[in-house]
Amino acid sequence: MSKLVQGYEVVIGFETHAQLSTKSKIFSRASVAFGAEPNTQACAVDMALPGTLPVMNIGAVERAIEFGLAINAHIAERSIFARKNYFYPDLPKGYQISQFEIPVVQGGEVSFFLEVGKETVRKTVRLERAHLEEDAGKSLHEDSSLGASIGDGRGQSGIDLNRAGTPLLEIVTQPDMRSSEEAVAYAKELHKIVTWIGICDGNMQEGSFRCDANVSVRKPGGQLGTRREIKNLNSFKFMQQAIDYEVRWQIDQIEDGHTIQQATVLFDPDTGETRAMRTKEDAADYRYFPDPDLPPLVIGRDWVERVKGEMAELPRVMGERFVKEYALPEYDATQLTQSKAVAAYFEATAKACGQPKLASNWIMGEVSRRLNASELDIEQAPVSAAQLAALIGRISDNTISNNAARQVFEGLWNKEGEVDAIIEAKGLKQMNDTGELEKIIDEVLAANPKNVEEFKAGNAKALNGLVGPIMKASKGKANPGQVNALLMKKLG
Ligand code: ADP
Ligand code: MG
Repeated sequence: MSKLVQGYEVVIGFETHAQLSTKSKIFSRASVAFGAEPNTQACAVDMALPGTLPVMNIGAVERAIEFGLAINAHIAERSIFARKNYFYPDLPKGYQISQFEIPVVQGGEVSFFLEVGKETVRKTVRLERAHLEEDAGKSLHEDSSLGASIGDGRGQSGIDLNRAGTPLLEIVTQPDMRSSEEAVAYAKELHKIVTWIGICDGNMQEGSFRCDANVSVRKPGGQLGTRREIKNLNSFKFMQQAIDYEVRWQIDQIEDGHTIQQATVLFDPDTGETRAMRTKEDAADYRYFPDPDLPPLVIGRDWVERVKGEMAELPRVMGERFVKEYALPEYDATQLTQSKAVAAYFEATAKACGQPKLASNWIMGEVSRRLNASELDIEQAPVSAAQLAALIGRISDNTISNNAARQVFEGLWNKEGEVDAIIEAKGLKQMNDTGELEKIIDEVLAANPKNVEEFKAGNAKALNGLVGPIMKASKGKANPGQVNALLMKKLG
C-alpha cells in the first residue's frame, strides 16, 4: 500500500515524548505547573545537590500502566531505571534517568483510518516500547523571550531548572509508517489516546506532546536506508512539512550520488527546511547502566487489574460499541470518537432523537463545519445535543425538509430560539396539505405544456422543468417526495 516518491519508498518511525499529567515531578515533590518564573519549581533533587536521592512518583507509573492498557501492550512486572550519561548545562546531574534495557511498556499497537484517494483504509502501527524518564532543564539564551528573567539577558545564557525532572513517557514505534500522511495520522491518533485517557494534556505549544520523526528512504524491497531524526515537531502542520522536505532532500542527495549520514536535524518553519544539528550518538556513547539510586520498578498484576477497572471506556472500544449499538459504519464511529466531548454529544443526540445515523451525519457535517469555521470546540457549540435532536425529530416527522432544517440549524446557532419557534418564525413548515399542493401542481402543469408533452414522450429530464417551478411556487415548503408522487400520478 506504500506510495512511492520518485521511485523511493519512505520509511518513518516515531519517538514521542508525552509529558505525564502529574502534579509533581517524577523523582521529586516540586511542582510541574507550566509558566512559572525560572527556577522557582526546582528543588534540591532537580538541582542535583549532592546527597539527594530520587523517589519514584507512583502517579507517573500509574499513567504508564494506563497507556500500556490503552494500546494493548505488555506491562513489565519488573522494569529498570538506567542512567543515560551526557553533558549539557541543563542537566546538572550529568545523566538523565531513563529506562533502557527493560522498559515498563513493551509492544502494543495504534491503529487509525486514513484517506487514500477516495478510499478509507485502516492502518496499524506497531509500538516497540514506552518508557518512563525525566525531562531536562532549559537553557535560556539572550534573545529568548525569557531573557529578561535572567538579568538583562544580553550576551548571557541562563539555565531554568523548572522543567528538570518533569515526568515523560517516551513512546517508540517500529519503522512502520510509509508516508508523511500516515505519520501525521499516527501522531494524531496517539495524541487522541493520551488525552482521552488523561495521562497527558496534549498541549503541543507548551511542549507536552513532542514528536521526533525518524525518516529514511529506500528502493522498494531493499534494506532499510540510513535515517535522519527530525526533533521536536510540535505541530501537526510542521510535522507534515518537515517530513515532506526531508524525504525530498534525502532522495536528492542519493540521486546526486551522496550517502545519507545518520543525524539529528531540526525543522525551521520559516524556511520550511530541515537542518542538521549534530551527528547522532549511538547508545554506546551514553554509557547506560542501571541507576543504583532506584530499585527495580515492580508492578504486580493486581495493580494492573485495579488500574484497568478504573479506566474509562477507550476510544477504540467505544467506537466498536457505536457500530453495534447504533448500527453506524465503522468510519462514523471513528470520527465520533475523536474526543470524549464529541462522543458524548453524539450519544446524547442519538438517544434523544432515536436516529443515530442522522445524528452522526449532522454532527460530522453541519456541526463540525460550523465549529471549524468559528474555531470552537464542541463543548462551546451554541447548539445543544437536545436542540439538534429536536431538529432531527422535525425532519423525520416530515415537518420540515432537509433544506429548511439547515435554516433552522442556522437559527439555533445564532440563538434565535428553540426549533419549533424558529420553524414558525421563518415559515419553514413543509406543505403537507395535499389539496394546496395539488392546486399548485395543476397551475404549473397548465403553464408548462411543453414539458408535460416531452415527459409523456419519454424524456424523463423534462420533469425537472416542472419540479423547479412547483417548489418555487410553494416557497420551498413542498415536500419533494410528495411532489414527485403527485406529479407521477397526474402524468402517469
Ligand atoms: P535509537 O537507539 O537511536 O533510539 P532505535 O532503533 O530505538 O534507535 O529507533 C528509534 C526510532 O527510529 C524508532 O521509532 C524506529 O522505528 C525508527 N527507525 C529505526 N530505523 C529506521 C529507519 N531505517 N528508517 C526510519 N526509521 C527508523
Ligand atoms: Mg531508541
